[in-house]
Amino acid sequence: MEDVIVIGGGVVGCLTLRALASWKLRVRLIEKQYDLASGATMANSAIVHAGYDPEPGTRKARFNAEGNRLYPALARELDFLFLPTPSLVTAFGEEQEETLEKLLARGRENGVEGLSILRGEELFRAEPRLSEKVTAALRAPTAGITEPWSVAITAAENAADNGALLNLGEEVTGLSRLPDGILVTTDKGEYKARAVVNAAGVWADRIHDMLLPHAFSIRPRLGQYYLLDRKVGDLVKNTLFACPTREGKGVLLSPSVHGKLLIGPDAREVSDRELTPTDAEGLRFVRESAARFLREPLPMNLTIRTYAGIRPTPDTGDFIVGKTDVPGFYQAAGIESPGLASAPAIARELSETVARDLGAAKREDFNPFRRKQIRLNRMSEEEKRELISRDSRYAVIVCKCEKVSEAEIVDAIHRNAGARSVKGVKKRVGAGFGRCQAGFCQPVVVSILARELGIPKDQVLYDGPGSEILKGKVK
Ligand SMILES: Cc1cc2nc3c(=O)[nH]c(=O)nc-3n(C[C@H](O)[C@H](O)[C@H](O)COP(=O)(O)OP(=O)(O)OC[C@H]3O[C@@H](n4cnc5c(N)ncnc54)[C@H](O)[C@@H]3O)c2cc1C
Repeated sequence: MEDVIVIGGGVVGCLTLRALASWKLRVRLIEKQYDLASGATMANSAIVHAGYDPEPGTRKARFNAEGNRLYPALARELDFLFLPTPSLVTAFGEEQEETLEKLLARGRENGVEGLSILRGEELFRAEPRLSEKVTAALRAPTAGITEPWSVAITAAENAADNGALLNLGEEVTGLSRLPDGILVTTDKGEYKARAVVNAAGVWADRIHDMLLPHAFSIRPRLGQYYLLDRKVGDLVKNTLFACPTREGKGVLLSPSVHGKLLIGPDAREVSDRELTPTDAEGLRFVRESAARFLREPLPMNLTIRTYAGIRPTPDTGDFIVGKTDVPGFYQAAGIESPGLASAPAIARELSETVARDLGAAKREDFNPFRRKQIRLNRMSEEEKRELISRDSRYAVIVCKCEKVSEAEIVDAIHRNAGARSVKGVKKRVGAGFGRCQAGFCQPVVVSILARELGIPKDQVLYDGPGSEILKGKVK
């Protein structure tokens, strides 16, 4: 019998697992995909929103503002990339300036610090390339940018380092009540747990309905992006937003933690909950919306890829977090934006509720720090020389675009929650995220995976089962 089973290995599930692992509880995470962070957590805008946007009094408002405050310390403990990067909500004319005033008041009510409205010289000093048509902007200095999938993966690794169990590539297919807990049925077996946390993202309504009468629906909404080369990564210093509408926060223009430029997303309701296609119409909308921000044309010729993600939008309008009517069944459902920013706060509250209900005590031996990850591309020449003198595999650069070495890839494979696929390596060390999009490094990554996992090369997967890259020997 487990104490707690968390369903879903996105940012919410992984952070909740880690928070639960800090209590005297036996915890397990079950994720249906081959790797963690394969849902909304993989493809989004990566903004740790400050918290001025959600309506005061909502769960979104509370968790966003609290989650934002938790990020700097969390990034230090888990060693993922997080860069404080102010956001600017831009207004084009008087009517939109009124919206800025409303957002300012809302932000203050939500407890967001340091908000101000910039105009004139001050505004253009903050963002020199901004279009002259922008008349004012709400500046939120506490916003940040991060690498969303790494928040999830590093949290799961740290949880596993502290004894949590991870079942990947296993789908929860049924839940039923037991006298002393819940029976979790998967496509691979059965588990009994005193408590279950539903963090199943876009499928959270289906998981809910396995135990309770239908109460909410998730409406999948697609959002498409462009990613531009780091040659233009410094085009903007802040994350630029348009004034929000009923549809959401609209298209943004933002630096990425890797020094690239992110443009997107659009918003379109879709019927498939997992397919993430891009289309010409949506991308044109993204291009045209973003073009308004700057006084110069956007360098779209430097696009290195387009991609899309699916928002798990609940029809309730707010996050659904906490206990349910079934004893032992908890949820973090409908976690659309600002879910990434909110996740640390959701995880903290949810884990405290579960631990209290189960009568668990805090662990004294919980280690919140993940073993530091060496990132060659962030080191000085002297540091690199010192490292290479200790391990020559740091001198073997596998991904030339992102400057990722063989030693970093090997380390990523052998950690808890380590990489088991080419995409898994990409998520953990960035090999393949650069300008050539793995054109050069993929064969080498395949060889390293085969060697380190002890499998033939034709069994190495790109992402999950059925995504083998090689068919067999030609010569
Ligand atoms: C286009 C877009 C832009 C966004 N921008 C931002 C932003 O800038 N800032 C921000 O704060 N938020 C943003 N968000 C929201 C943020 O990405 C999400 O709130 C967050 O990633 C949700 O995490 P999650 O763990 O709840 O869901 P997910 O990451 O989707 O994880 C759920 C997991 O559950 C698994 N699962 C489902 N069913 C089962 C089952 N039966 N058995 C086992 N596992 C199962 C899935 O495979 C999945 O891995 C954006 C979202 C999108 C799509």
